[in-house]
Amino acid sequence: MEVSLSDCVFCKIVAGQIPAKKVAESEKSLAFFDVSPRQPLHVLVVPKNHHDNVADLAFSDPEALVDLIQLGSKIANDHAAGSFRLTFNTGSDAGQTVFHAHGHITSKSLKETSGN
Ligand code: 5GP
Ligand code: ZN
Repeated sequence: MEVSLSDCVFCKIVAGQIPAKKVAESEKSLAFFDVSPRQPLHVLVVPKNHHDNVADLAFSDPEALVDLIQLGSKIANDHAAGSFRLTFNTGSDAGQTVFHAHGHITSKSLKETSGN
């Protein structure tokens, strides 16, 4: 699918063109707090390169998907008290609203020291 990257909000965050509260990054991934958190911990982890959704990412750059999951797991380990969810809404009927692949790291319990 042809995508106008200039219209992609997460590409703009990766490029530093719009602000986000960054949590961590790796060579291939960037993590930042969700602007409308629905759990005490709600971080988005995105590939730095544009892919429409996690399925496209898995087929076109599997290493970047592993990198994304590893970065998200480290963040969950640092910020959540043991348990977390990693979810990928894929397609508008499943609730995807931003068509740049992203995982939601959510947890209902924070580590006391997480600083959030
Ligand atoms: P989706 O519904 O596509 O799975 O998730 C998109 C998420 O991106 C939503 O939870 C929404 O709150 C978040 N979001 C949308 N625009 C922005 C933004 O400009 N900055 C940040 N930090 N989060 C955003
Ligand atoms: Zn994008």
